[in-house]
Amino acid sequence: MNKKTMKMIIASGIIVIAVTIMAGINNTGFKMPGRATVNSVIEAEETSTTVTDFEKERPVIASIVNNRNGIAITWNKIEGATGYYIYRDGKKICQVKKETTKYTDKGANKNGTLYGFSIMAYKTINGKTYKSVISPGVKSCFLKGSSIDILTKKAGNTHVSWRKNSKANGYQVQYSTKQSFKKARVKTVKGQNKKSAKLSKLKNTKSYYVRLRGYVRKGKKKYYSHWSTCAKIIPWNGKWEFAGYSKIHTDSATLYFSSAPKTKKKTVCINAGHGTKGGESVMTLCHPDGSGKVTGGSTAAGAIRATSINSGTVLNDGTTEAQATLKLAMVVKKKLLKAGYNVLMVREGEDSQIDNIGRTVFANNCADYHIALHYDSSSSDKGAFYISVPENKSYRNMYPVSKNWKKHNKLGKNLVWGMENAGVKIYGKGEMAIDLTQTSYSTIPSVDLEVGDKSSNHSNKALKTIASGIVKGMNK
Ligand SMILES: [Zn+2]
Repeated sequence: MNKKTMKMIIASGIIVIAVTIMAGINNTGFKMPGRATVNSVIEAEETSTTVTDFEKERPVIASIVNNRNGIAITWNKIEGATGYYIYRDGKKICQVKKETTKYTDKGANKNGTLYGFSIMAYKTINGKTYKSVISPGVKSCFLKGSSIDILTKKAGNTHVSWRKNSKANGYQVQYSTKQSFKKARVKTVKGQNKKSAKLSKLKNTKSYYVRLRGYVRKGKKKYYSHWSTCAKIIPWNGKWEFAGYSKIHTDSATLYFSSAPKTKKKTVCINAGHGTKGGESVMTLCHPDGSGKVTGGSTAAGAIRATSINSGTVLNDGTTEAQATLKLAMVVKKKLLKAGYNVLMVREGEDSQIDNIGRTVFANNCADYHIALHYDSSSSDKGAFYISVPENKSYRNMYPVSKNWKKHNKLGKNLVWGMENAGVKIYGKGEMAIDLTQTSYSTIPSVDLEVGDKSSNHSNKALKTIASGIVKGMNK
């Protein structure tokens, strides 16, 4: 502040008083002469006093948390600030405008690294910048977020696994019946190498949301990673349409939410074909109306009942079809999640106690699309195809086939198109018409995809190609 300004301030004090009195007299809106000049003097006065106050202000960092891709801080607003400078480890990293009171430092993203932050408010008047006192420093150790790998509920046992973070000292798993995680239970898992946990006391009839985060200790402090995207355990619901036709459904299905930046808001059920112990000794109705199969397949034409789920074929290298479809399903799940789809899984282990109708009913009620993965029992490496809906009038007129058969075929065509584009060998026109139990109970677009046969290459690379094709087909 220079001497000239000081004089103006003293002078303005008198003018302000004069103006107040005059304003009192002129309540009717009478235009005061010379008002603009008076105002500018008042402004100068306000500025000068607040500058002195401003330079004494000390912002405070109110919160510091690890985000998905950096460290986020928030601070209290300083009245009159033009903006704020942000310092990381003593170095100014950026400046933000006055409306802003939060910032995510994407540069603070090295897993397991401790970062310190402080901020300073500044005010610019006539090209001159005035600074506040610097805030007290706060620290956070950036820890990369973990993601749920597999979440299952079988025979009352809930099990969650994740990919471990080598810098974490442990994990917190939260589970709640609410997606907001209100009143969530917390399970703390101590240990650097831990990557799974059992969750207890979950009610069998309720859905649960599960999420987790890692923590790291630095000195006496514990720092947490960002929460993972949640996954949801969905138990069987006997009130669902066609639920009464399923015989095996004691396991829960799991809905995985995509953490992609842009989600599709669609859920795809990925059904790893076969893999239900005891499924062959239980019979279920082929059609909900009790009519017979209109084509042959694994069950003969005319059959009223079929095994609730069979064990599938064995590939030429000795891998069971159930093992091969599971391996593929896990790759497809990962790719779909990455592409923005939510994924409903009805089997993620060797055995899932959910039969074919059960899987279909789960998909009908908790997904928008249902894709079952299979390998055909031929040995000629004939290529991939989907099972289309037979051109049979009574079958296509039977509910729910009547309402959905066009959608099933369209989905099948898209998936085969996608696989062909990804470089998967396709059999003939890419379809074969068979009356399937899955189709007979599906109320959403649903297909059985035969991704190859007993001679097909099912290396990781081949599975990735198939999975890319499925994603392409879904995006079409
Ligand atoms: Zn199969």
